[in-house]
Amino acid sequence: MSTLSIRDLHVSVETDAGAKEILRGVNLDINSTETHAIMGPNGSGKSTLAYALAGHPGYTVTSGTAAIDGEDILEMSVDERAKAGLFLAMQYPVEVPGVTVTNFLRTAKTAIDGEAPKLRTWTKDLSEAMKNLRVDPAFASRNVNEGFSGGEKKRHEILQMELLKPRFAILDETDSGLDVDALRIVSEGVNRVKEKTDVGVLLITHYTRILRYIQPDYVHVMVNGRIAEEGGAELAERLENEGYDRFLGVGA
Ligand code: ADP
Ligand code: MG
Ligand code: MG
Repeated sequence: MSTLSIRDLHVSVETDAGAKEILRGVNLDINSTETHAIMGPNGSGKSTLAYALAGHPGYTVTSGTAAIDGEDILEMSVDERAKAGLFLAMQYPVEVPGVTVTNFLRTAKTAIDGEAPKLRTWTKDLSEAMKNLRVDPAFASRNVNEGFSGGEKKRHEILQMELLKPRFAILDETDSGLDVDALRIVSEGVNRVKEKTDVGVLLITHYTRILRYIQPDYVHVMVNGRIAEEGGAELAERLENEGYDRFLGVGA
C-alpha cells in the first residue's frame, strides 16, 4: 500500500493585483486503497489543489509538502509525477492535434512504465476498456479531445485511468456535464479500476450525485482554502440536505 500525504500545503496564484493565496494549509492523507471525496462551494480551492498536485505552472506552492511514500512530488516534473503513480484526469485537457486516442494512450503508458506495452495484451486491454466504457471503436482513431463532447472527454479520462493504472487518481469534477447514463458508465469504470488494483481516488466534486455511484470512504469539505470538516459518506448526505451555508456563515 502507498500513501499520498499532503501537509500544510499553501498555494498561490498570480493575479493582476499580485500573488493571491488560495490554499491556506491543506492536510490530507490518502491510502492507495481508499476513496476520498473533496467537496465544497465554488471557488473554495478544490481545483487549485488538483492543479498544484499536477504541477501546473500557474500554481505556486509557497509552503508545505506533498509526498508519495515519503518521496516529495512537488520537486518532480509533471512526467516524473506521472511515473511516481499520480494521475490527474484533467492533466491534458487540450486538443492534441494529429495524435489519436490510441497513440496517445500507448505513448503515455510507455512513458509511465518505462517500456512499451506488449502489442497483443495492449490491444486486448484497450478494446476491453473501451467496450466497458461503451465507447465506439471509432473513438480510438480520433484525435485527442478534438471535437470531444463533455461525455467523451470524461470517458477518455477514465480510459486513461483504466489503462495507465495509477496509484493515485485525482478526478476533478468528473461528474460535471454528464447525464445520468454517462455518469453511471463513468462511475462503473472508476469502480472497476478500484476492484482490479489498489488505487487511491481523490474525487473532487461540488455535488453529491456521483457519490451515490462511487462510495467514498472519507469526505472532506473544503472552504476558503482549508479543509473545514471531515467525515465518512454520511457527511455527503448531510451536505446534500443542508448545503454549504453553515460553512460560509450564512444563516448560521
Ligand atoms: P473550486 O475548484 O473549488 O471551485 P478553484 O480552485 O478553481 O475553486 O478557485 C479557488 C479560488 O482561486 C477562486 O476564487 C478563483 O477565482 C481563484 N483562482 C483560481 N485560479 C486562479 C487564477 N489562475 N488566477 C486568479 N484567481 C484564481
Ligand atoms: Mg473546480
Ligand atoms: Mg482496491
